[in-house]
Amino acid sequence: MSEQSRCWFCHRSDAEVMAFADVETPRQREILQQMSQVTRFKDDFLQSADVWRKGVPKELKEFDFSFVTSNADQFKPIRIGNGLLGEIAAPSKLLGEIVDAKKLTVDWLESVALVLRGGDGEIPGFGKLSPFEKGDREALSRMVDQFEAKWHRRIGSDGSKGSDRGGYKQGFEGLKLFDGLEFMIALGLLYYDVQAQLLDMARRKEINSKPKRGVSVLLVNGYPPVPLCSVCVDVMKELSSQRDAEPAAPQQVAVAPRPIVKAA
Ligand SMILES: [Zn+2]
Repeated sequence: MSEQSRCWFCHRSDAEVMAFADVETPRQREILQQMSQVTRFKDDFLQSADVWRKGVPKELKEFDFSFVTSNADQFKPIRIGNGLLGEIAAPSKLLGEIVDAKKLTVDWLESVALVLRGGDGEIPGFGKLSPFEKGDREALSRMVDQFEAKWHRRIGSDGSKGSDRGGYKQGFEGLKLFDGLEFMIALGLLYYDVQAQLLDMARRKEINSKPKRGVSVLLVNGYPPVPLCSVCVDVMKELSSQRDAEPAAPQQVAVAPRPIVKAA
């Protein structure tokens, strides 16, 4: 690295300043915590999914998934066949668990599927997609498209019966308990993947919005333009505001060639 691109005050290079001054913002920390939460929740969800697969009452297998999950409470007192009450009573807790998990994951996904697919609009709890890069918005759209193509089903239901023009069914339409559960588990996993993608987008946006740290050519009152690092500039600004005297804070040179002095 040439001498010219080192800070005139502290002699640190651009790379040194970037490594030294890249401080994690509170928002960045918050996003990282949320990302590890999503990973943990997804693991928990997968473990629960195993319990659900094994535990859903076989006696209800001919029932419609949507019917069972929207009437989970009613299955507690139902006696199916002879003496099966004991076996069916315990799974009603499990059905309740499935319903709760579905509310947390699938309902949210259903409500944003159109926005994700279009790559535009607002995601509740996240904000507008429009400020994000096209590639990121396309990635979200692809996640929805690929999921629906794999299952030949739309994530959300518009309430219509039968297949749409693309040959896709709507949501849980026509799915019996076991197949519906598999579809719900797949939707739940997609929910966590979408959350992870959104958080990663937010993380990168936060990093990019931080003021650039490094060495740039700046103008200080009374001196020719000199290369200064952002750390020293911050100190100078701090000092000049404390003194409340003639501001010595450097200003950005409009067009700042670098290096400024050609080696003789
Ligand atoms: Zn410096």
